[in-house]
Amino acid sequence: MHISADKIQEFGLTESIKCPRCGKDVYMKLLKATNGLGVFNVSLVNLNIDLFAICPECNSMFTVDDSIAKRAGKNNSNQFTMINDKNIKFLRELK
Ligand SMILES: [Zn+2]
Repeated sequence: MHISADKIQEFGLTESIKCPRCGKDVYMKLLKATNGLGVFNVSLVNLNIDLFAICPECNSMFTVDDSIAKRAGKNNSNQFTMINDKNIKFLRELK
């Protein structure tokens, strides 16, 4: 997996959620972009989203609903239970 932006940090894991793409129950890895410029050649400026979830089974990358991302990013307590298959949106597949 290539992470092209400098300011990307791993942000933790979600609770077990069902991946909308492969249908498996997985703990998705969360990535947070802190420079707002782009990651994986996707412009974040236009999307205005900075939290991503990645399925370890099918390598699909999802954006996390912005309002959820903002709340989850506020503190270090475990807010990731708010993230589920209803508020993530498929963005692209990682090679
Ligand atoms: Zn998947």
